[in-house]
Amino acid sequence: MIRKGSLLSRWLTYYLLTAGLLVLALIALTSDIYSGDDPATLRRNVEGFALAVIVIMTGLAWVLWLPLARRLERIQDAVNGYAKGHYDKRLPAEGRTELDVLSADLNWMAQQLHLHSIVERERQQQQEAVMTSMIEGVIAIDMDGCIISINRAARELLHLNGGDLSGQLISRIVRQDALIQFIRRALSETEPVHADVALQGNGHHQLEVVSNALIGPTGKPLGTLIVMNDVTHVRKLERMRRDFVANVSHELRTPITSIKGFMETLLEGALNDPNDARRFIEIIAKQADRLDAIIEDLLSLSRVEQDAERGELQLQEERLASVLQAAVQLSQAKADACGIALHVHCPDSLRAHMNAPLFEQAVVNLIDNAIKHSESGQAIHVTADVQDHEVRIDVTDMGAGIAKEHHARIFERFYRVDKSRSRKLGSTGLGLSIVKHIVQAHGGRVSVESSLGKGSTFTISLPR
Ligand code: ADP
Repeated sequence: MIRKGSLLSRWLTYYLLTAGLLVLALIALTSDIYSGDDPATLRRNVEGFALAVIVIMTGLAWVLWLPLARRLERIQDAVNGYAKGHYDKRLPAEGRTELDVLSADLNWMAQQLHLHSIVERERQQQQEAVMTSMIEGVIAIDMDGCIISINRAARELLHLNGGDLSGQLISRIVRQDALIQFIRRALSETEPVHADVALQGNGHHQLEVVSNALIGPTGKPLGTLIVMNDVTHVRKLERMRRDFVANVSHELRTPITSIKGFMETLLEGALNDPNDARRFIEIIAKQADRLDAIIEDLLSLSRVEQDAERGELQLQEERLASVLQAAVQLSQAKADACGIALHVHCPDSLRAHMNAPLFEQAVVNLIDNAIKHSESGQAIHVTADVQDHEVRIDVTDMGAGIAKEHHARIFERFYRVDKSRSRKLGSTGLGLSIVKHIVQAHGGRVSVESSLGKGSTFTISLPR
């Protein structure tokens, strides 16, 4: 088939027109020249000859042109395929004609493009793999605020589902004002921009965001690259550390201020009054003891934490009754002084995996608290048994009890229900915090059940 408008059809049209014109010119010319002698016969001969010339020329052209046209069409098809990325087609190029040379060149070009496309695809896959495996969220954004690419971590941080997001306006799909403002600022700057951005909703996540301008090969800015880190946990720890330092300073300042005050009073003349001097020195000694108790508690807290972190805590099977009896013995003098009875209920055979001296300290702290918040004549029970594959140790008193709103916070460092009463009792606010860390270092947990005026039960649960 000859395609309409193809080179062949046009060539044939021009060819027939030229041949027709030639024949007409020949007829006109010969009719003038030979008008005298039998012009009809002569004209017929000339016409017949002209027709024969046209038929032979057309046939010849057809035979010569057709294979040429077919090759051109194949070349055209192949080039169209290359343009669409189908580089597997090859053209016959065995001969030495211009078309063979052209075909060979096209074959070579297709081969190069194929290799290039394989290398490019591999590079893209590597880039995608790097982006996907990054913990940081990464978004590349063009100067119009449209997404060029976004990795999985960024989608997770911003809770973006759906398919391909490239080309979409970031402000339309991310409903986070602070982040969108940051991106606008980043797009207007060529220098890196840093900021902490709080995400609304979804548990108030805190992101550390850094931008870097995307610069094209000509030096023109193409957009910006945003790298996001979830620093919620880190910021929480930083806040806790700041609070802890502030709390420790505050706790230490109270006895130190008191000591300094009484020392000054003594130096200013109270030393000369033996009664005042003794009283003031006793107060100073008490405050010094308090300082000592706080520092001792802080040190044991940090020792437990460090040992647990380094995995250096030695745990072994112990007879629980012995450990509980030892703890009760340590608290006995104090209980006797307050007129409080201590009872231990623990099966002889019950054994638990523990670090005995540390666990003893935890139980002593609980018994100590129970004594402090009980009245004379009341009893404290230390009970151990096995429940749901756990060893449970309860320390129960019938004392003051704790209102429900404090339950969640009493295990925090320096948290006290009644600050002034607690100080009078010589408390540091660290006792339960130490218990919690010791129990956690044993892989267990501690909880409280208590109501005001009805006493408390602190329960340690250890895995068996
Ligand atoms: P403290 O050194 O002040 O006792 P803790 O961390 O041991 O610090 O206890 C925190 C707070 O919990 C105490 O200030 C106290 O108000 C309360 N508490 C602890 N144990 C008891 C208990 N057995 N009965 C009543 N209140 C308690």
